[in-house]
Amino acid sequence: MAQIIDGKAISMQIKDELKEKTAALREQGTEITLAVIQVGDDPASGVYVRNKKRGCEYTGIRSLSFELPEQTTRQELTDLVERLNRQADVNGILVQLPLPSHIDEDAVIRAISPQKDVDGFHPWSVGALSIGQPGFVSCTPAGVIQLLKRSGIDIAGKECVVLGRSNIVGKPMAMLLLRENATVTIAHSKTRNLKEVTSRADILITAVGKPKMITREYVKQGAVVIDVGINRDENGRLCGDVDFQDVEPVCSAITPVPGGVGPMTIAMLLSNCIESVRFQQPL
Ligand code: NDP
Repeated sequence: MAQIIDGKAISMQIKDELKEKTAALREQGTEITLAVIQVGDDPASGVYVRNKKRGCEYTGIRSLSFELPEQTTRQELTDLVERLNRQADVNGILVQLPLPSHIDEDAVIRAISPQKDVDGFHPWSVGALSIGQPGFVSCTPAGVIQLLKRSGIDIAGKECVVLGRSNIVGKPMAMLLLRENATVTIAHSKTRNLKEVTSRADILITAVGKPKMITREYVKQGAVVIDVGINRDENGRLCGDVDFQDVEPVCSAITPVPGGVGPMTIAMLLSNCIESVRFQQPL
C-alpha cells in the first residue's frame, strides 16, 4: 500500500505555523497585508480568491480586496498595481489570473514590485530562483517541495521527472528540485518515448492538465508520484493527471486529487506574504 500524502493536513500544519509567526510579528508592531486584485467575474477565479482571503483570515494576514469590472483596461490595472507598490502598508500584491483576454498578463506581472510579488511570477523572481538568490518562489512548486520534505521523502540525488514545462508549475518545479540536489528531467508534449522517460523517475511530478493520463505504464515500481493536475473527469468530478486507482498499487507514495497539492498552493502564498517582510526591510 502506498503512503497517501495528505496535503490538507500538511497545509493545515503550515498555516498553524504561519499563524504563530504573524502573531509574533504583530507583537513587534508589524502587520502583514496582502492586496488581492480580481478582474471580471470568472467563477473559478472567484472561488480561488475567496479561499485565499479565508487563508489570510485564518493566519492573521490582513487582506485588501479589489474587484474590478471585466472592461478594466491594462492601464487602469497597472495604475492600481503601481499605487499598491508605493503603499508601505501593503506587503504582497496578487493579481488573480487569468485576466480578461484584452489585458496583457505579462505586462501586469512586470508592473508588480519584485519585493511584493508573492505569486513569484515576476521575471526577477524567476531569475533569482534560477541563479539561487533569495526571492519569491511560485507557490505550487514550493508547495510540492514542502509536501515531499514533510512526508520524509529525500530529494537529494534522486532521479526526478517533471511532466509539463509551464512557467508557473513545470519550470520552477524543475529549478526547485535542482536546488534540492535532484537529477532533473523535464518532459513535455514533444518528448519522445514519454513512458520510458517517466519510468526512470524515483519522484514523478505531473503538471499536464490531462485527466487520468498517467497510468501505471508511466510509473516505476516504488516511485513517489506527485499529481499537480486539477481536472474534471468524464463525470465532471475533480481528478488529477494521474489515474490514482491504477497507479497507487505500484508506487511508494502518492498525492490524491483533491486533497494533495491543491491545498499547499494557498499555504505557500500565505508563507510568501510573511516572507515579504524580510524582502521589504531596508538592508
Ligand atoms: P499548461 O497547460 O500551461 O502546461 C501543460 C504542460 O503539459 C505543457 O508543458 C505541455 O507541453 C504538457 N503536456 C500537455 N499534454 C501533454 C502530453 N500529452 N504529454 C506530455 N506533456 C504534455 O498547464 P499548467 O502548468 O498551468 O497546469 C497543469 C495542471 O496543473 C493543470 O491541470 C492545472 O489545473 C494544474 N494546476 C494546479 C495547481 C494547484 O494548485 N494544484 C496550480 C496550477 C496548475 P508543451 O509545453 O509541449 O505544450
